[in-house]
Parts: sequence; C-alpha cells; structure tokens
Amino acid sequence: MAVKVTLLGTGVGIPHSGRSQSSLMMEGQGTLLFDCGAGSLLRLSQAGAMVPQLDAVFLTHLHLDHSSDLLPLANAKYLMGEGEIRVFGPEGTELFLQRSLAAYPYLNRMAMEIQELAPGDGVDLKGFSISCAGAIHSVTALGYRIESQGNTVAYSGDTEPSGEIAEMASGADLLIHECSFPEPYQITNHTTPVRLAETIQDVGRIVLTHLYPQAAGHEGEMARTVAMGTKVPVEVGRDLQIIDI
Ligand SMILES: [Zn+2]
Ligand SMILES: [Zn+2]
Repeated sequence: MAVKVTLLGTGVGIPHSGRSQSSLMMEGQGTLLFDCGAGSLLRLSQAGAMVPQLDAVFLTHLHLDHSSDLLPLANAKYLMGEGEIRVFGPEGTELFLQRSLAAYPYLNRMAMEIQELAPGDGVDLKGFSISCAGAIHSVTALGYRIESQGNTVAYSGDTEPSGEIAEMASGADLLIHECSFPEPYQITNHTTPVRLAETIQDVGRIVLTHLYPQAAGHEGEMARTVAMGTKVPVEVGRDLQIIDI
C-alpha cells in the first residue's frame, strides 16, 4: 500500500491567510499525525479524516503552533467514542501534557498514553517504522523519519539547517522541511532557502512548509533556490495538499 501524506497546516504562529499552523497526516496501514497546531482539527475534517481512527500524534516540539490543537483533538476523539490517544514527543512532553490537562480537570476521562523520544530512538507502529533525530531550535525539538513498505518520508519540524536532520533524511523519497523565511533574511532557529540547499543531499523530492507571512509572494523563488542547490524537485507546500508516495 502506498503512503498518503496530507499537509494539514503549512503556517506558523502568526496568522497567515490560507496557512493553518503546523500539522501533517500520514496514512498507510494506520493513520499518524505529525504536529497538531491550531487549526489542525478543522483541517482534519476538511481532509475527510476519521478523527477516531487516528492512531497516534508525534510532536516535533512543544511550541504552541505545533501542539495547541492536541487537547481539542483528544477531546474530539473522546466525544466521538474513542477515548484513547497515543502521543509521542521530545523530552518534556509528559510534564507538558500533565500540566495542560490539569487546567481542564474534566478531561481526565481521556486515556492518553505518552512516550517521550530522544534522538536515535525508534518506534514501530501500524506498519510504520519511525525514528527521530535532534533538530536545532530554541527548545528541544525532533525531526522524524517515517518508513513504510519501502517508502520513506522525512519531516524536519522546526530547525535551523542541521547536519543531523540532513543525515536523518538521507535517501528519503520525500523531505518535508521547514523554510520559514525567504532570502535575504538572516535568522537563527529556523531555515532559509540557501542554507537549506547547502545542507540537504540525497533526497528524492522536497516540500517546503512552516512559512511566515514574510514568505508570501516569494514562494516561487524560495522553491527555485532550494531546487538549484539540491538538484531535486522542490515545491512550497499548501494546506490540504495531498502527496502520494
Ligand atoms: Zn518552534
Ligand atoms: Zn513552528
């Protein structure tokens, strides 16, 4: 069975018309969500996803724009008759969710199974083999490599261009990498096109995500810059875009 990737949210913490906050869904034998920023729940319904059938959520890090729809998602699962949700995330995820849930005592009806991951860890789940690597960001953050029946997708989460993330993505059919700002922005903790192109090698195709409003109108040049440097097809992702691998 092929793997179907749906970009649910390609935006950031600053409102940007047409771009919901970070989230993507992978469907194969099971259904996994990677990040769950604000707007993910709406996008899931627009994508026709069956929320009760989501098997697990993998968080790259705990910033709001990657995690703020997690409790609403868990609550929706409960309201739709499926109370259990599995959550994977970096160090600190368990305490983060304990504290978040403490603000909503009635949500203790939900069964939430939480597993923290460190760079190099791996998980086998529903026909997917998932491993992670450390990203370079302002908080502890992971990127994920997801393999299923000979197909490989890598997702950077939020990061500066990183050798560890590049190595994790090596050989992937598809790399979904953040590219927050166009040139000539000079930034830390996030990615710009020239540095991304210098770092990434040996992937089949790249889709850029996590675009700040400053990227609006520059999508074409961002994709061309990364494509020129990496010599592979590159496009800027859009919300609800479906990519079959
Ligand atoms: Zn972040
Ligand atoms: Zn972010």
